[in-house]
Amino acid sequence: MSICVVGTGYVGLVTGVCMADLGNDVICVDVNAKKIQNLKKNILPIYEPGLEELVKKNKKRLTFTTNLKEGVTKSEIIFIAVGTPPTETGEADLTYLKSVAKEIGKHMNSSKIIVDKSTVPVGSGDIVESIIDEYSKGKYKFDVASCPEFLREGSAIHDFMNPDRVVVGAKRKEAAEKVAEIFKPLNTKIITADIRSAEMIKHASNTFLAMKISFINEIANICERVGADVEVVASGMGLDKRIGKMFLNAGAGYGGSCFPKDVAALRCMARNEDYEPLLLSAVMEVNKQQRKIVVNKIKNIMGTLEGRQVGILGIAFKPDTDDIREAVAIDVMAALLEKGCRIKAYDPVAVENAKKVLKGVKYVESPYEAAKDSECLVVLTEWKEFKELDLEKIKKVMKKPAIVDGRNIYEPKEMQAAGFKYTGIGRG
Ligand code: NAD
Repeated sequence: MSICVVGTGYVGLVTGVCMADLGNDVICVDVNAKKIQNLKKNILPIYEPGLEELVKKNKKRLTFTTNLKEGVTKSEIIFIAVGTPPTETGEADLTYLKSVAKEIGKHMNSSKIIVDKSTVPVGSGDIVESIIDEYSKGKYKFDVASCPEFLREGSAIHDFMNPDRVVVGAKRKEAAEKVAEIFKPLNTKIITADIRSAEMIKHASNTFLAMKISFINEIANICERVGADVEVVASGMGLDKRIGKMFLNAGAGYGGSCFPKDVAALRCMARNEDYEPLLLSAVMEVNKQQRKIVVNKIKNIMGTLEGRQVGILGIAFKPDTDDIREAVAIDVMAALLEKGCRIKAYDPVAVENAKKVLKGVKYVESPYEAAKDSECLVVLTEWKEFKELDLEKIKKVMKKPAIVDGRNIYEPKEMQAAGFKYTGIGRG
């Protein structure tokens, strides 16, 4: 099949490359000329395990261009995977989506299916349809479909190739079937739905996962006060099939470009319809509070913060990605800087991105450098390498051996036995 993917970010690039791997000819379009130039030279704009190899493997079936007209005219199916970032009020900003719809409309040369892969508010399919209709002047028949993406950064290729389900929303059955055909080789359940329900499935799924995280964090905060250990509690809960063990990891809270944005966007959608979604507000509040709890724990362990040095382990919003959008570490470091702390921070791949958004931090090249002369080491991303640190060496180089474990990667008893002043989240 000839496919165009508009937007070569975390979602567009991965889905484009994976669809090429499934045997399709894929034109990947982006407005960012530098990104496209680099992609042509096999230089990837993001860190994603396995992606570089897959780009190389499918070189013959992949085209990278800034020319949207070329992508539109040469393709039967056009996926839109541009960003839908939050506005100040929490609503999804549809500027990029609308601008792409306008360009697609202008360049239509035959009947096509336009599939929205970006996470968009319910009703966006209708907006895209009316824009394309306006700019194509009704000359061609076309379908708009919704195919929300559920991949996770850090395991994006695996997630694309092994999805729990694929959701396709469309008005016409034939259009849904055509889109579904692309995903048939994945041997997964394909759910066909109306467009609005497909758009809602994405928001409801992400919000549910965010809720699980905020729920276990709320339990963790209670555990601390009543002398229970949230790790034991979560594993006891998780064995119940009705609950499930995933997303029950207590810690410094969720970040990234999806959960915070999608929960806020769903709240806006509800409020726009005069419904106050109490649970969604609570999910957001608990998550915001978790970041403050980490800063308080650092303060409690160190006494005063002014002029003292803290080492940060992990900046990316989760392991195996360089994405720092809405990352807990950025907020925590900003709060510490405001209180006069000196910070040394380390992340295996996200440092370059962090340098662009947070100045005043000394970014270093190893966890041991972050620990050197620090009075507290703070774990904010659960990178595997942090679980395998030489703790004796860490203790030796620190000014005072103290750890605030914002991701509960260590065992309190072991850390205390190793001579650290240690605090995790919810380990009463
Ligand atoms: P991103 O910011 O990494 O990438 C968006 C890309 O779109 C950028 O490269 C940008 O240059 C490009 N773009 C913007 N306007 C354009 C235009 N007019 N023409 C061509 N390209 C244009 O975003 P992302 O993380 O890939 O997310 C994309 C969408 O997918 C969002 O709606 C997001 O919520 C959703 N989503 C993201 C994830 C994730 O893990 N990142 C997972 C599922 C869904």
